[in-house]
Amino acid sequence: MDINFYNTLTGKKEKFVPLHKEFVGLYNCGPTVYQYAHIGNLRSYVFADILRRTLEFNGLHVRQVINITDVGHLTDDADSGEDKVEKEAKKDGRGAKEITAFYTEAFLKDVGALNMKLDGTRFTPATEHIREQIELIQRLEEKKCTYQTSDGVYFDTNTFPAYGKLGNINIKGLKEGARIDINDEKKNPTDFALWKFSKPEEHRQQEWPSPWGVGFPGWHIECSAMSMKYLGENFDIHTGGVDHIPTHHNGEIAQSEAATGKPYANYWLHNEHLMINGEKISKSLGNSICLSDIIAKNISPLAYRFWLLMASYRTQINFNWDALLGAETALKRLYALFRALGEVVGIPSVDYCSRFKACINDDLDTPRALTLVWEVLKDKVLSSADKRATLLAFDAVLGLNLSSLTSHLIPENISLLLEERKQARKSGDWATADRIRDELKSLGYEIKDTQEGVQITHI
Ligand code: AMP
Ligand code: ZN
Repeated sequence: MDINFYNTLTGKKEKFVPLHKEFVGLYNCGPTVYQYAHIGNLRSYVFADILRRTLEFNGLHVRQVINITDVGHLTDDADSGEDKVEKEAKKDGRGAKEITAFYTEAFLKDVGALNMKLDGTRFTPATEHIREQIELIQRLEEKKCTYQTSDGVYFDTNTFPAYGKLGNINIKGLKEGARIDINDEKKNPTDFALWKFSKPEEHRQQEWPSPWGVGFPGWHIECSAMSMKYLGENFDIHTGGVDHIPTHHNGEIAQSEAATGKPYANYWLHNEHLMINGEKISKSLGNSICLSDIIAKNISPLAYRFWLLMASYRTQINFNWDALLGAETALKRLYALFRALGEVVGIPSVDYCSRFKACINDDLDTPRALTLVWEVLKDKVLSSADKRATLLAFDAVLGLNLSSLTSHLIPENISLLLEERKQARKSGDWATADRIRDELKSLGYEIKDTQEGVQITHI
């Protein structure tokens, strides 16, 4: 079955065709670790998680990289603000490393609580990839795409005529709006810093020598250097929130494609914002709500996950506590109905699973996938055992932790034997059915045939 994603690069929904047979390269723009992530940031990672799980549901192996921005992200997203981490460090005299380690840990805890699947995921801190970033800037220098000013090394966007192609950014508008740009040494308002020099009065904690002088990398260069290092110069999918489209992601594309002469990421997927009272939730606006606030109200992080899944990742949603409480009630009901299906193990319904796949393969349509969950529960024909197996199969993508509600988790080899036995019984091959029952017993599983299906006990 085809997978279709809305690709910001082309502005349309397209069939996903992976570059390699062996893996899908997935890069998720990661957190800037100078404060706790707010629940808007976390929406970005629940979306990335659904994307990864959907690819895996389709039998694809995902190579996932998430960066940790621990240097270089300036307060204005452009090139004139203060480094967010350094600023935080100055506030209370803490070490920059101490801050980034603390908030990285907090981030991992949050995404863990949201049941983000992270086995095999590579987290790449920018400060551990300074050499790669310098090398990439050198490549750009060799291609004459850079110039130096008194405060850093800049990418000359005039050397990349396609600049702004992602999301069809109105460059003319940007240029006009940039008359007030305080950096008059820049050749074009759209040019951006690749390397910034430390100012002596800044007393930076994090700085490195470079061929151009002591300083630190620009924010965009880290993502290009690390994604290409681990996924290849041309890779499959890059994600982030829509706020990253104009500057950060167009910057990444320009510097990567200018350096390699190859297309950078083939598919760009962006989540819409989480709003609060009609405003973008943001650390700098001071309207942040964190996962710890949700937990403090005794609401499960998974209720927040469930609430997010009720909307498409491409819709702006407005957070309010009543809506979240509504989601929690619905999730509790789902858990109760799931538990009521009993402990009997069945076989996932092929029909429902294929309908489910059609939903998630249609640009991660989780609202429709959730409708199907309720439809399975209400189905009049499917046995409880098969309902339960079907919902567990869905949960590989939804990640609502249904398996934790079962006391008997059946390993895959046992499920396969059960299926084989079911087929044998269907075709009247009682000898094989009995042989498999004995085999199951020797593996520690006793089975009983009931009207509801097969009942299995671990002995
Ligand atoms: P940051 O930690 O600021 O680098 O952002 C981490 C991720 O959160 C990025 O992909 C942002 O685009 C995304 N993001 C920031 N604010 C919001 C929001 N209000 N709603 C959804 N995503 C957001
Ligand atoms: Zn990035």
